[in-house]
Amino acid sequence: MTTTAADSETGVLAGEARLLIDGELVGAADGATFDVINPATEEAAGTAADGSAADFDRAIAAARRAFDANAGNWRTDVEFRIHCVGQLRDGLVRAQERLRRILVTEIGTPIATTYSIQLAFPIEEAGYWPDYARNFDYLRDIGTHAGLGRSSRQKLQYIPVGVVAAITPWNVPLYLNIAESVPSLLAGNAVILKPAQLTPWAGLELGRIVAEETDIPAGIFQVVVSNDNDVAATLTSDPRVDMVTFTGSTAVGRKILASAAPTVKKTVMELGGKSTHIVLDDADLATVLPSAAGGVCTMSGQGCTNATRILLPRARLAEGLAIIKASIERFPYGDPWDMKNHSGPSISDAQRAKVLGLIEGAVAAGATLLAGGGKPTHLPTGYYIEPTLLSDVDPRSVIGQEETFGPVVTVTPYDSEDEAVAIANDTIYGLAGQVSSGDDERALAVALQIRTGTVGANVASTFSLTSPLGGVGHSGLGRRYGEHGFEEYLEVKAIGLPA
Ligand code: NAD
Repeated sequence: MTTTAADSETGVLAGEARLLIDGELVGAADGATFDVINPATEEAAGTAADGSAADFDRAIAAARRAFDANAGNWRTDVEFRIHCVGQLRDGLVRAQERLRRILVTEIGTPIATTYSIQLAFPIEEAGYWPDYARNFDYLRDIGTHAGLGRSSRQKLQYIPVGVVAAITPWNVPLYLNIAESVPSLLAGNAVILKPAQLTPWAGLELGRIVAEETDIPAGIFQVVVSNDNDVAATLTSDPRVDMVTFTGSTAVGRKILASAAPTVKKTVMELGGKSTHIVLDDADLATVLPSAAGGVCTMSGQGCTNATRILLPRARLAEGLAIIKASIERFPYGDPWDMKNHSGPSISDAQRAKVLGLIEGAVAAGATLLAGGGKPTHLPTGYYIEPTLLSDVDPRSVIGQEETFGPVVTVTPYDSEDEAVAIANDTIYGLAGQVSSGDDERALAVALQIRTGTVGANVASTFSLTSPLGGVGHSGLGRRYGEHGFEEYLEVKAIGLPA
C-alpha cells in the first residue's frame, strides 16, 4: 500500500502507555509512569509505564513458562508462527498512520524517514521473514562423515534458543524492534522486547497490536520498559533468559556481555561505529560528496552506519571541502513534520550537549570549523544542532575516534591509498564504510582492505534484508538479516545415525 504525507494527519500523538506482560496490557505493578518528551518541542507528549523489577520478573517467568510448555505449539509449529506474524504485519499496516505520528513525536525524526527506514522498511521486514521461515530447512541430512575411525550419517536439527531478551535503542526504534523480534519469533523463541525509554511507544504499540490483533500465545511476545537501566539489566543476568540480542552503544554492550557471562547466554551485539568514507583521487567529487555529507546529517546524524569521517586526497582537499561546505550549508533541517526536511532535532538535550562538546573538543584539538558547530538561532525550541563541517581533523583525536551520533562531517586529508586504508582501520570499531572512485574495480580493491562488517564500493551501503549486517571489533558480535541473521536465533544440533 502506497501512502503519502497528504494521507496522514500530521501532529503530535501519544502512544500506548501499557506494557504487554503474559498476554495482558498492563500498567507497571506499582503504577509508576515516566514522561515521553517530544524532542522538537521539549515538552512531554504523554507517558509510558515505568516497569519495575516485579514487572520484569513476571515477564521473564511468563516467557519461560510459555516456551517450556510449548504454548500453542509455538516451538514446533512453524505454520502457526507464520500465521501469527502475518497478523502482526497486517496490524502494522492498519496502524501505520498512527505509528507515523507516534514516531515523529517521540524521536523527532523527519516525517520523510517514515516512508523509508523508520516505518515503511520495518513493515516490509515483517512481511519478509515469514516466507524465509517457511522455506528454512530445520532438519537436514548432511551425508556421511568420518572421524576417529568411525563413520556416521548425520542430520542437523535447528532448534529455537529459548527465552530471548531483545534490547533496542532510540534512533530507529520500530525498525530495530521488528529486526530483533520478528525473525526470533519465527525461529520459535519467546521474546521479551525492551525498547529504549526515550522512545518507548514504538515498542509498546507493537505490544498493543500483538495483544489485540494476533493469536500469539501469552508469554511468547512481551514488551517491558523501564526508565531505570538497572531494572532492565535483570534481563541480561537472569538465568531464565537464554539469549540477549542487543542494539545500542558499545559501552552498554560491554556491560551486557559481562552481565550475561555468568549464565553463558548466547548474545548478538550490534554496537557503535566510526565509519570512514575513502574518496579516491579519481572520484567525481561533485556527485559523491553532496550525498555523502547529506547522508551523515540525515536524522541529526543519529545513524549507526554513517560514514562520518571523509578522507580526501590532499591534492583535491580544497575542491572537496568547498563542495561539502556548500552541501552542509543548504542541508534542509528543522520542523520534523515538514516533508522537505531531512533532519529534525537530536533525541535529547543530553545527546545534543554530548555532540556540541565533541565539536568544541575537536576545535580545541586543532580542527577547523568550516560550517555550523552550534545551536541554530532560528530554532530556539527543540534539541537542534547545526549541520557541521570540521576539516583538518586528526584521525587520532577524540572526534576522530569516538562515535559522534550528530550531524557532523569530519574531513582528513591523506597522501597515499595505503595511508587512507590505515586511517580507516585505525579505530576500535568496524561497522561500515564507503569507498568512492571513478573505477569500480579500484573502489573494490580498496574496499577489500577495510576491516568492517559492511562496506560500500561506489555505493552508499550494502543495506538489504538479504545480506548480513553487523560489525567487527568493538562494533559487535553476530549479524542481522540474510541467512546469518535468521540462524542467530537458532541452535544447531548434530545427530548421528549408523552410516
Ligand atoms: P544505549 O546503549 O544507551 O541503549 C540501548 C538500549 O540499552 C536502551 O534500550 C537502554 O535502555 C538499554 N540499556 C542501557 N543500559 C543497560 C543495561 N545496563 N542493561 C540492559 N539494558 C541497558 O544506546 P542508545 O543511546 O539508545 O542508541 C545509540 C547507540 O546505538 C549508538 O551507539 C549506535 O551506534 C547504536 N546503534 C547500533 C546499530 C547497529 O546496527 N550496530 C543500530 C542502531 C544503533
